[in-house]
Amino acid sequence: MSNKAESVAILINALQLTIETHQDEVAELDRAIGDGDHVVNLQRGLNALEALSDELINLEWPPTFMKIGMTLMSTMGGASGSLFGTLFISMAKAAKDKQVDLATFSAIFAQGVDSVKQRGKSDIGEKTMLDTLIPVANSLLDDARNNIEFNQALESAKQYAVSGMQSTKALLATKGRASFLGERAIGHIDPGARTSQLMICAIADALIKG
Ligand code: ADP
Ligand code: MG
Repeated sequence: MSNKAESVAILINALQLTIETHQDEVAELDRAIGDGDHVVNLQRGLNALEALSDELINLEWPPTFMKIGMTLMSTMGGASGSLFGTLFISMAKAAKDKQVDLATFSAIFAQGVDSVKQRGKSDIGEKTMLDTLIPVANSLLDDARNNIEFNQALESAKQYAVSGMQSTKALLATKGRASFLGERAIGHIDPGARTSQLMICAIADALIKG
């Protein structure tokens, strides 16, 4: 994946594919501890991104992130729409005037995840998408600091995404709809943690394949 123009369309398609492949499972997760709409919300957002692909390929990364964030925010709906939207809008601001490489990207992504924490008034351990996003952000920051090779950093990010997602199963939910269930949410993986993990793994795989 040599240049930005190719990458955007490939990455959006990789996201659509992984969510489509797991759509029944994710729908079931949100039916168990939410209202069942998470996968449909996300697919609506990803389809809107696909429709924008031609426009996005001509932009630098910061306006690309901004457009992605605004589009997810306005098309997805649900708590996850505003949170995924916030992630990218904040990344756009953090990416301004920067070349995107592992060192800058890890800082940009960490800034985005921080904004999700603020917007959701939540943190790790509350059974949300943040249980996937925070460990991945920390792993990328550590690896960038230690000059770890790019593909190795992506492999670690994948592992942290999976373990973070799995950690939500045992947790009590203290934010979002699942929090209404109290102890009954225990034993179920959080749908937003699962889709975040699937998307991070799909992006990492696409970048590793190059
Ligand atoms: P809704 O809950 O409004 O129906 P979705 O079903 O699309 O929205 O998304 C639900 C997901 O959003 C949850 O699985 C969780 O990961 C995430 N989520 C909900 N509230 C919060 C929050 N306050 N902070 C972080 N993530 C949240
Ligand atoms: Mg829902």
